[in-house]
Amino acid sequence: MRARSAPAPLLVRLNPGLAGLPVYQPGRPIEEVARELGLPPERVIKLASNENPLGPGPRARAALRRFLPHVHRYPDGNAYYLKRRLAAHLEVTPGHLILGNGSNEILEFVGHAAIAPGSEVVVSQYCFAVYPIVTHLFGGQLVVVPAREYGHDLAALRRAITPRTSVVFVANPNNPTGTIAPADAVLRLVRSVPPHVLLVMDEAYWEFVPHPVDLLPVIRAGNRPNLLLTRTFSKIHGLAGLRLGYGIGHPDLVAALEKVRQPFNINALAQTAALAALDDRTHVRRTRANNVAGLRLFAAAFHRLGLEFMPSAANFILVRVGEGDKVFSALQRQGVIVRPMRAYGLPEWIRISIGRPAENARCLAGLRRVLGLAPRR
Ligand SMILES: *Cc1c(COP(=O)(O)O)cnc(C)c1O
Repeated sequence: MRARSAPAPLLVRLNPGLAGLPVYQPGRPIEEVARELGLPPERVIKLASNENPLGPGPRARAALRRFLPHVHRYPDGNAYYLKRRLAAHLEVTPGHLILGNGSNEILEFVGHAAIAPGSEVVVSQYCFAVYPIVTHLFGGQLVVVPAREYGHDLAALRRAITPRTSVVFVANPNNPTGTIAPADAVLRLVRSVPPHVLLVMDEAYWEFVPHPVDLLPVIRAGNRPNLLLTRTFSKIHGLAGLRLGYGIGHPDLVAALEKVRQPFNINALAQTAALAALDDRTHVRRTRANNVAGLRLFAAAFHRLGLEFMPSAANFILVRVGEGDKVFSALQRQGVIVRPMRAYGLPEWIRISIGRPAENARCLAGLRRVLGLAPRR
């Protein structure tokens, strides 16, 4: 039989929710942009996905090399050693922990476990793009609470909770704004969320904050089984490519989430590298120091150039450049990948991840050129 070339429409009975599902737009990969521009990849820099510009730490690299001969084996499905080590690090028990293929997978577990048609899910304006996706994926109804000065209005989030609310997602610090909610407001929210509502505090950037609000004592006390913290090895530990995040919560909540986890979701290299990364205090310290210096550099430069920016508690900075899409494209043509913010309802802004000093300088020089703010020679 000859293959027929006439195009056939897709008539598969897809879930109705898929039609309206927003598509996540990730930061563009270096190789893709380099191919487009006809440049060698080394000439392109990426400051678009809040990755660690220093890469993985030396201990993680060494552990990965040592482990390579063993990748033919399935990973430990329960990640025994990593959970034990992480539990000791956080002063909780392994029963308080669930590991995910990135903390994004933990957010998806929350969807499986707690969001259904009819559920309301409360988020803030300018929230992390994955929350609306997970909400719609499971047929939930998104309730968006207006931001205040671009940050979360936690009191308003609390007021938006109804008997139909199943989940509240809060990233603190928030991505993409870099804003951070004050500790007392966070604690008030944690204490006041009704017991039927799961409060997910997304702490992907927690390790970058000098004096972050510490919710682990609440977890240890055991009296808030509706609180889930999520953290990740993607940002401060520089392991985004290996995909490893985790949730911290009451053991009963963790047991419920565990039911929807696939047995080998955490690959063996990720487990090995994470174990080593937790011990690499030097790398964490260096990463923080580089980030603080980079944030200062960008803030000072934006100030000088008269560009509005958002003071950031994380490893990226949001700056108002006029037409964000155009500036993004123009920077890209110069081999600098940043993130346009239209999808977040911030079309005049771009988000720049803090890079190494030379990358930051190149990005700033590019931005000055693109905006016509280059100093005259
Ligand atoms: C980067 C990020 C994550 C972490 O993603 P991973 O899946 O762990 O790589 C989670 N939440 C927010 C708000 C983020 O910006």
